[in-house]
Amino acid sequence: MAKNKKTETTTVTEPVRTSGLFAYAPAPESPAAAGDIAGSYGHFIGGEFVDSSGSEALKTVNPATEQVLAEFAQGTDEDVDRAVKAARKAFGDWSALPGSERGKYLYRIARIIQERSRELAVLESIDNGKPIRETRDFDLPTVAAHFFYYAGWADKLDYAGFGRNPQPLGVAAQVIPWNFPLMMLAWKIAPALATGNTVVLKPAETTPLTALRFAEICQQAGLPKGVVNIVTGDGRTGAALTSHPEVNKVAFTGSTNVGRSIARQLAGSRKKLSLELGGKAANIVFDDAPIDQAVEGIVNGIFFNQGHVCCAGSRLLVQESVHDEVLDALKRRMATLRVGDPLDKNTDIGAVNSAAQLARITELTDAGEAEGAERWSPSCELPSAGYWFAPTLFTGVTQANLVAREEIFGPVLSVLTFRTPTEAVEKANNTPYGLSAGIWTEKGSRILWMANQLKAGVVWANTFNKFDPTSPFGGYKESGYGREGGRHGLEAYLDV
Ligand code: NAD
Ligand code: MG
Repeated sequence: MAKNKKTETTTVTEPVRTSGLFAYAPAPESPAAAGDIAGSYGHFIGGEFVDSSGSEALKTVNPATEQVLAEFAQGTDEDVDRAVKAARKAFGDWSALPGSERGKYLYRIARIIQERSRELAVLESIDNGKPIRETRDFDLPTVAAHFFYYAGWADKLDYAGFGRNPQPLGVAAQVIPWNFPLMMLAWKIAPALATGNTVVLKPAETTPLTALRFAEICQQAGLPKGVVNIVTGDGRTGAALTSHPEVNKVAFTGSTNVGRSIARQLAGSRKKLSLELGGKAANIVFDDAPIDQAVEGIVNGIFFNQGHVCCAGSRLLVQESVHDEVLDALKRRMATLRVGDPLDKNTDIGAVNSAAQLARITELTDAGEAEGAERWSPSCELPSAGYWFAPTLFTGVTQANLVAREEIFGPVLSVLTFRTPTEAVEKANNTPYGLSAGIWTEKGSRILWMANQLKAGVVWANTFNKFDPTSPFGGYKESGYGREGGRHGLEAYLDV
């Protein structure tokens, strides 16, 4: 009898579906968890929140609603100078601390980030537009892990392979983009502090709020004044910072054009420079790949963070013999992606970060279509307010098409085909960029052969967008130079 009963209860019933999808109840995270957002912000200089010397203020909006969240200062040359001087003043004592003492501050910061991670995740989602599922499960854990990891290096620099007692550079000027605001901050600040440098960081003008909240965490951790300074503003503030004569190191993540202008600006100076720029990564699927797993990797590769990812797998190279099978599975999977409220825990694709970025994505995709590529999106309702772009696929794409060449930085995938591994390599490398690549195949020897041929800083095999603080990240060619993360990431902040 008991046996019969068991059989009965394990009978699989058809799930409830609405228009081909599972029905989900909304699961909203509370915006109140973001804590208090001030009406207006100044800079964080010398351990204090201070007013700007100028009167110009910028606004940051919630891209999912277009609501203004706060005003913040447009940093002037004078503000930047004040911040650089505060960092310079702090450098002597900070760099003279034993590494084990610097490490304690980094551990403390990492712990506070973990303790306040819900608050930071919600604030990040509100200011940036990315889904809470990502900020909660990816951004914040990675941010904390980065501080923990470099805390561990602070007292072991003698053993990092850069000689005995490697020295810091001095004051680091750090300019970061809007796609992973806190994570980019962590990638910049953690190694700089571990190696004994002090920093002035400028967050992007559409996402300044988590950097300003991080300034509070520096206070909470009792970090000595001036070790971390945050100056807000747009590209003008960024240029004032990177060109300041008293900085010793510039670290920039953002567009290739701005990276190029910074490299030009710094040529002939003694400032050390690392650049992390754009990408147009190939995600390469062979006919022996586990197709369902590959489809998940393709989706993660291009739709994670609305495709606002420098290492996004924006070019799918699929072996001709499995093209139809992969495309069918991919379209089925794309139809299940949920676009909408970033604070809903069910959301897969949030808002595009800004009106400007939406305009850029729209312009590039329209041009791609006009050049003859075939466009497809699943039917999906987009909210009326805010900046949204449906997940989009282009087939029939030639290598000359704009959507195969330009970094779109949005949820847009271009599909190309190949027949042989050599052709796949040629097509994958046919780009001015070289940040990342993905390979999907059951064959280990082919993975190793491909990884050797691909001109990309990171090559993922049977996975994509995997990040770990112990692993160096960075580019070839126009994707920039220098590495962030891992032991290699220390070098960018040491006088070696
Ligand atoms: P951007 O390069 O203009 O901005 C990145 C950061 O640099 C921001 O903080 C900005 O204020 C600052 N900045 C701008 N001009 C500067 C200058 N002359 N000197 C110093 N700092 C300056 O990027 P964007 O306009 O926000 O985005 C444009 C394109 O860049 C995107 O479509 C995308 O292709 C690419 N992008 C790449 C990354 C990446 O992670 N590699 C990140 C963001 C954007
Ligand atoms: Mg914003």
